[in-house]
Amino acid sequence: IALPCLQETVSEITEELRGRTDRGEVATYIPELARVDSASFGIAVVDGSGQVAVGGDADVPFSIQSISKVFTLTLALGMAGDRLWQRVGREPSGSRFNSIIQLENERGIPRNPFINAGAIAVTDLILSGHQPREALGEILRFMQFLADDPTIKIDAAVAASELRTGHRNSALAHYMKSFGVLDNPVDHTLGVYFHHCAIAMSCRQLAMASRFLAHLGRNPATGFSVVQPERARRINAVMLTCGHYDGSGDFAYRVGLPGKSGVGGGILAIAPGKASITVWSPGLDESGNSRLGRIALEMLAKRLDLSIFGV
Ligand code: GLU
Repeated sequence: IALPCLQETVSEITEELRGRTDRGEVATYIPELARVDSASFGIAVVDGSGQVAVGGDADVPFSIQSISKVFTLTLALGMAGDRLWQRVGREPSGSRFNSIIQLENERGIPRNPFINAGAIAVTDLILSGHQPREALGEILRFMQFLADDPTIKIDAAVAASELRTGHRNSALAHYMKSFGVLDNPVDHTLGVYFHHCAIAMSCRQLAMASRFLAHLGRNPATGFSVVQPERARRINAVMLTCGHYDGSGDFAYRVGLPGKSGVGGGILAIAPGKASITVWSPGLDESGNSRLGRIALEMLAKRLDLSIFGV
C-alpha cells in the first residue's frame, strides 16, 4: 500500500531539520569519520507500493558502520540458523557500544549481535571456511543484491583508518578468543569486521536494501523471498531492543520502530508492513546515535502514524 502524503512529509521534515545547529558531535575516534561535513542531512523512505520519498542528501554515500550489523546478522542466520545464538545473546546491553565489561561475566558471550563484541562474533561465523576476501565479497554482494545496485563499495580509507586505531575492538576480539568464542585468527575476523563497517551507502540505497525487513522477508518489488517471515520478525525484534546501544529504550520510547544506528550518523528504521526508512545526520548524542536522525524519525513516525505501538 502507498503511504499518503509521503513526499510532502519527508520534504517538510527535511526543511525543518536541515538548518538546525543543535546536531551533536561527529564521531572522531575513527579519524577518517571526523572529516565528514557535520551539516549533511539526508532521508529516504520506501513504502510497500515502491514509492520512494527523499530529502536533503539522500543520495550521498556515508559510512554505514554499525548498520552493516543488521545485514551480517541476516547472513549469519542464513548460514548457521539458531546455532548462532550459542555464541551471541539477544538481550539489550545497557552498556556503551564498545564495552568490554559484560564479556567477563558472560564467559566471553556478547549480549547481542549489534554491539561491537557481538558483531565481531557474528563476522567470525561468516568468515569460517572462507578466506577474509571471500567473506567480505559475500557481504558486499549481499548489500548490492538487496539494494539492487552494483555500484555500492567499501570506503578503503575508512577501513584503513579503523584498522590503525581500532585497539578497543582488537581487545574485545582477543578477549572473546580467549574464551573460545571466535574460531578464526583474530586479525582475519577484525579485518572483515572493519571493512564491512566501512561500506559506504546512501540513505536511498539503505532504505532499498532493507525492504525485506518491512515486508515479511520479501522484496515487495520482485516478490523474491530473502528470509522467512519469522526470521524478518525476529531480526526486527532484536533491532527494537538492541539497535541503539545503551539508547535502545529511549529510541523505542520516542520513535516506536525497530532501528539500527551507526557511528557514521545513519539510522535504519523499519515500519513493519509499511516502509523501510534511512536517515543520516553525522552529529551524535551521548549514546553515539544520530541526534537529528532520531528527531527526524520521531517526527516521521508521528506524522505518518508509523509506530508499531499505535498512535
Ligand atoms: N566500526 C565501528 C566500531 O567498531 C562501528 C561502531 C558503530 O557504528 O557503532 O567502532
